Amino acid sequence: MATTIEVEDTITVGALAERLMIPVSKLIAELMKNGIMATVNERIDLETAQIITEELGLDVEFKGKSTDSPIPQRVKPKGGTAAVPRPPVVAVMGHVDHGKTSLLDAIRGSKIASSEAGGITQHISAYMIEHNGRSITFLDTPGHEAFSAIREHGAQLTDIIVLVVAADDGVKPQTIEAIRFARKAGVKILVAITKIDKDDADPNRVKQQLSEQNLLPEEWGGDTVVQEVSAKTSKGLNELLDMILLMADMEELKADIDVPASGLIIEAHVEVGRGPVARALVEAGVLKPGQFIVAGHTYAKIRNLESSKSEPLKQAGPSTPVTITGFKSLPEFGDEFRVVKDERSARSQADMTARENHKVSNRGITSNELLRIINRSNELKELNIIVKTDVQGSLTSVIDSLKALNTEEVAVRIVGSGIGSITENDLRLSKASNAQIYGFNVNCASAVRQQAVRDRIELRLYNVIYELIDDVKKELEQLLAPEVIETETGTLVIKGIFNTTKTSIICGGEVTKGKLVTPSYARIERNGKKLMTAEVTNLKRGPTDVNEVTEHEMCGISLRTPAKLELQIGDRLIVFTKEVQERHL
Ligand code: GDP
Repeated sequence: MATTIEVEDTITVGALAERLMIPVSKLIAELMKNGIMATVNERIDLETAQIITEELGLDVEFKGKSTDSPIPQRVKPKGGTAAVPRPPVVAVMGHVDHGKTSLLDAIRGSKIASSEAGGITQHISAYMIEHNGRSITFLDTPGHEAFSAIREHGAQLTDIIVLVVAADDGVKPQTIEAIRFARKAGVKILVAITKIDKDDADPNRVKQQLSEQNLLPEEWGGDTVVQEVSAKTSKGLNELLDMILLMADMEELKADIDVPASGLIIEAHVEVGRGPVARALVEAGVLKPGQFIVAGHTYAKIRNLESSKSEPLKQAGPSTPVTITGFKSLPEFGDEFRVVKDERSARSQADMTARENHKVSNRGITSNELLRIINRSNELKELNIIVKTDVQGSLTSVIDSLKALNTEEVAVRIVGSGIGSITENDLRLSKASNAQIYGFNVNCASAVRQQAVRDRIELRLYNVIYELIDDVKKELEQLLAPEVIETETGTLVIKGIFNTTKTSIICGGEVTKGKLVTPSYARIERNGKKLMTAEVTNLKRGPTDVNEVTEHEMCGISLRTPAKLELQIGDRLIVFTKEVQERHL
């Protein structure tokens, strides 16, 4: 029986050797054999550990300690005794085209949806509105499935999820996905049935479908708040905002303000003339210009602190979305930020995180990659790619979506990635690694483009993410070995052998089953045992060449053989055709 070892998501090489009771050098050697250069203190993930252990012939089963929820639960600041009420942070989620953007626009009173590329919100942004003298912060979470990575973060940031369901379309896969996220993240759901102005709106059907997802509307005796709205006529919008505030009151949302400010980075990009620009959400404390903040591997002396309307702010309290400039380099989406006392501690804390990140990326090899290395004999075909995008959030999404395309046979290998325009550096990297360049929402100077043409570098720009993913998928499909479908057509029993050379046989016989056709192949069998496979080059009925011979007919047959074979009377030819079919991922 297998011994069970409980581990966290990752384990150091040293600790694993200890648990397996084998010398660490043996484990390191086995890892090396599999292409992983790891030292004693480096961490490998659970599945890698499992695979390596099996390779070592040990019967051990690994069990994760923390497998419960795929969404890491962030503990939101609850606030101590000095806590004050804070505005709710609301995310709008739902199926694509169900009206999330239109609803947010109607609430905000602007018109973004129509100008969006592909009509899909491409990166998260946040803004605050006032309703009845109180504030509500909305996160504009992306809608397309390619953004599930961002959406997972979205769920963690929020107090309330407004689940948008179009009255004319009902509950769809992404609606269910959003419900799942909300539940896993422990976030309250409020349902907005949108597009009720439409003729074919059927809110009752939607309520029925919601009940099937265990979201029983209040009016049907359940505890799910459901509000019917129209972004077009604004009907129900005030009521929706009332409901959000009511729910917030019930949740008693509070945060400390007399602590050093902290929060989360929700988006980051580079702006010409402004350098790295980060959007962030303050969760506790009061953030002010001039303060030093650390976010992941970088830090800033806050140069500009702006509201979601790009107005300068003197301070920003809990639940306020802000724009921050002054970072030394781009912080990452999902990084926590916090105020520290001076530049020295900001720099040293950022450096420490950078070093840790480096360690993590050194550990770098996931079980999938390992499997691919182990299976390298099966000739994994890789497509080298360089990805450039406008903001960190979309880079994460693009990379995640591309990685999701990988199979054991073909895989995307990201040899370079970054934020910003496509440059000559990218071309150099492309040439060095034979990589295609994909840009999302970025530009490319015409000189660079011309150079790419001259160097025959594949350089493609997109502003709709799934078109990019689709094109990469097509490229990968080209790498897939085509599938050969063999179809048996008939059997011939040999009655006469006329000529045999090293590479051919001319013989004759009777079709006892099915029919023979050309072009085709023949498996030559004697007493049920396969001797070889040959190619059928010609069929004759009497003196005439034919394409087909049917059951019970006699015929002559010419075969091209890979080696000399002395055929015997009574041998059988199982004749089959081969059809080559393109494969899809
Ligand atoms: P998203 O993908 O969920 O962000 O959806 P959009 O906000 O882009 O909306 C998708 C389509 O539905 C657009 O053509 C909108 O004009 C339309 N739409 C959104 N809300 C309403 C509404 O309340 N009434 C009507 N009639 N159309 C709407």
